[in-house]
Amino acid sequence: MIKLMRYSQLYTKTTKNVPADADSANARYLEQGGFIHREMAGVYSYLPLGLRVLRKIDNIIREEMNAIGGQEILMPALSPKENWMKTGRWDGLDVLFKLPAAGGKEYALGATHEEVVTPLVQDHVFSYKDLPMSVYQIQTKFRNELRAKSGILRGREFGMKDLYSFDKTEEELDEFYEKAKVAYTNVFKRVGFKPEDTYLTFASGGTFSKYSHEYQIAAGVGEDLIYTCDKCVVAVNKEIIEDQDSCPECGNKNLTEKNGIEVGNIFKLKTKYSEPFGFKFTDEDGTTKPVIMGCYGIGNTRLMGSLVEVFHDERGIIWPKNVSPYFVHLIVVKGDENAEKEAEKLYKDLEKEGIEVFFDDRDERPGAKFADADLMGMPLRLVVSKRTLESDSVEWKLRPEAEGENVPLKDVVKKVKALYKED
Ligand code: ATP
Ligand code: MG
Repeated sequence: MIKLMRYSQLYTKTTKNVPADADSANARYLEQGGFIHREMAGVYSYLPLGLRVLRKIDNIIREEMNAIGGQEILMPALSPKENWMKTGRWDGLDVLFKLPAAGGKEYALGATHEEVVTPLVQDHVFSYKDLPMSVYQIQTKFRNELRAKSGILRGREFGMKDLYSFDKTEEELDEFYEKAKVAYTNVFKRVGFKPEDTYLTFASGGTFSKYSHEYQIAAGVGEDLIYTCDKCVVAVNKEIIEDQDSCPECGNKNLTEKNGIEVGNIFKLKTKYSEPFGFKFTDEDGTTKPVIMGCYGIGNTRLMGSLVEVFHDERGIIWPKNVSPYFVHLIVVKGDENAEKEAEKLYKDLEKEGIEVFFDDRDERPGAKFADADLMGMPLRLVVSKRTLESDSVEWKLRPEAEGENVPLKDVVKKVKALYKED
């Protein structure tokens, strides 16, 4: 990723106007800050700053999926009706977008990819020697949601990482499932959520398993109601609370009701999709058996919106370091030749150290620059002005803090480097 950006070159502008449809912090601040652009209800474009955040999230997810052996692929958005007829979801999945196509055909616009991935993997996997294996993609999904709401939390077109596992036995599936849980915990921690806000949530498993697991972020805007055990950081989704009125880990009956945003979901499919496609493998003893499957989703765009829901204040976004579009928001107060020269030099010195810097070099009032820095939410704000240079220093302010402090100009690069490396 390119490390540097001059604000004077960035085509997007921030706005003080709160979008009329902004029903949530992520819709409001991401639009005001020029991260995303709403095209229609539930459909957004990702602009330069927003795409940087999304790509950072994607890369963290990708690293963790690769670490558990997932092989990255990219499947199409369009798929044939026949596949969906086989599984009963052409009529069974109410959010499926169906498209009339040339030659009297009909296609589905991918809402999820079991109908594509199962026959796809079947074409290459025949024997016990080919298993276990797993594939994943990071791709756009389409769902005809009744209500698109809360900015990028519930869209009709949205991003998802979907991984599919293929195993010989249920024990093998269980083993992979536990590895996936660890990878998921790593993802949510690395993007910046506090472990105590990230609930492994027991949800209904449908007909194939007792439970599936959701990853829920506790946040007021969340659509789901969960009952949390704060000792175990485990929760139960309200939809199954009738069967499960205590913490599934420790039996604690003192559960707290919270709103949650489902950022991920892992599911044991077993033979639900291998059966209709007749996906079998030849085992060591020569017998043929159905392949055992699991599916593992993370809503990468919803995750980005959830970060804003959790990390903001009345002035704007407070990005966690690992997903912030840039690390330093460098501001020069214009009108003083020396300040402009020192700010340019600092920009270059930080570049040499590999630090990602967003440089507000515009001819704008300082007040407007400070307001933008708060709205855009990068972790560290540095200000170079005639006044700071009177004491040979730079003003240093972490985003959540109200007041900055002066740091000697000669120490600032070293200090930024140290902060960048900190956990
Ligand atoms: P929900 O219960 O919120 O409708 P789901 O259970 O149907 O979601 P999955 O099919 O498990 O979702 O999809 C995997 C992940 O994709 C979800 O955990 C969520 O993070 C994300 N996701 C699902 N639907 C949407 C949507 N309409 N907009 C944005 N992200 C979504
Ligand atoms: Mg779900």
